[in-house]
Amino acid sequence: MEHVDVLIVGGGMVGTALACSLSGKGLSIAVLEQTAPPAFAPEQEPDLRVSAISPASARLLDGIGAWERIRSMRAAPYLRMQVWEDDEAHGTLFTAEEAGNDVLGHIVENRIIQLATTECVREREDIRYLCPARIARIDYQPKASRVTLEDGTVFVARLLVAADGARSAVRDAAGIGITSWDYPMHALVASCETAYDQQDITWQRFTATGPQAFLPLTGAHASLVWYNTPTEVKRLLALSDEELTAAFSAAFPQKLGGIRRLISRGSFGLTRRHAASYAKDGVVLAGDAAHTIHPLAGQGVNLGYQDVAALADTVLQAHAEGKDFADISVLRRYERLRKPANLAMQTGMDAFCYGFANTLPPLRAARKLGMKLADKAGPFKRGVIRYALGLPFRG
Ligand SMILES: Cc1cc2nc3c(=O)[nH]c(=O)nc-3n(C[C@H](O)[C@H](O)[C@H](O)COP(=O)(O)OP(=O)(O)OC[C@H]3O[C@@H](n4cnc5c(N)ncnc54)[C@H](O)[C@@H]3O)c2cc1C
Repeated sequence: MEHVDVLIVGGGMVGTALACSLSGKGLSIAVLEQTAPPAFAPEQEPDLRVSAISPASARLLDGIGAWERIRSMRAAPYLRMQVWEDDEAHGTLFTAEEAGNDVLGHIVENRIIQLATTECVREREDIRYLCPARIARIDYQPKASRVTLEDGTVFVARLLVAADGARSAVRDAAGIGITSWDYPMHALVASCETAYDQQDITWQRFTATGPQAFLPLTGAHASLVWYNTPTEVKRLLALSDEELTAAFSAAFPQKLGGIRRLISRGSFGLTRRHAASYAKDGVVLAGDAAHTIHPLAGQGVNLGYQDVAALADTVLQAHAEGKDFADISVLRRYERLRKPANLAMQTGMDAFCYGFANTLPPLRAARKLGMKLADKAGPFKRGVIRYALGLPFRG
């Protein structure tokens, strides 16, 4: 039986970053991950799963030593972000300069982030990293939860952390409920080779059936996201490469340049989830285990990294003051910091998404006027961009 101070189930982008953020302060930590991310080689084609990483998240990753590793593999910076409905004349262009930052963010493959943070985990002497870890059972007990592996190893944890994603087994074992609903749209995601060389702009267009997005990847590559009804996404997914390329070319803005070649494609159902609470005595949730959000604005893992910062700060502060860091009174502070903020972002994204799905003429006119005004409204616009980037609001 192995006793640890903090046992993190899930060594994904969030769990590994949390382990590193807690490391070096006298706590014994273990991370259990079921699947190792495949190794990186520069000649590999870009993965399907990518994330827009905000400057605030990049700073957190830098703090644990992962950011330079990510950049040395692959990360595409973007300095401009254009959003419009139907035609570009009624759009808004956000720039890094307006935000007072050198970039608006980076598009990075999820596997590369996980590889970098996992390397950081492996280098820390106070973290035990087990992968592939096959969990046989999880028994929640206040400040003495037990996790049993299929090989018979038993971990007993003062603090058990659920970083095991949207279908969290730890959350279920702790008896923490969620509210959830499916969005009436799916996401078709495709990575492709583009006619233009590497770009520094992301595009999002809003249509009544859902948004479309172009995210630049390194070199002449991009990730295309097409939100549509589940039936339409299923139909598109079944097309041949030539037919799907033609469909993208017809539906996506011409100024993106042509698609030279489709590399891979996939589809994702979209579900909003929020845990009824983020903590119980001796157990706490972070990242997708606590909340999932519409991916439209690329905030999911960025919210997860804000959870990481708040949770590490809460636990380490209590530990430094000689308090019981696994106590519910301590963990509630983390919940107070993060739950309302995550809920506000989820609600904001839904309002945005459903607002654009409405085709009533007065609403469409108001939206176009709003976009135009947003494009001109200097201090307010600057404040909104900074908020989306996880930077302090400064109009
Ligand atoms: C189409 C789409 C596009 C997105 N785009 C963006 C974006 O641009 N920007 C952004 O910020 N977010 C984006 N997201 C959201 C983002 O992918 C998630 O928020 C992020 O992956 C959450 O990270 P996580 O570590 O909390 O969970 P996960 O990524 O789900 O990781 C959980 C980890 O736990 C492991 N695990 C699970 N169960 C067990 C177990 N029993 N034992 C051991 N290990 C286990 C898994 O193997 C995995 O490694 C997008 C999501 C979708 C669907």
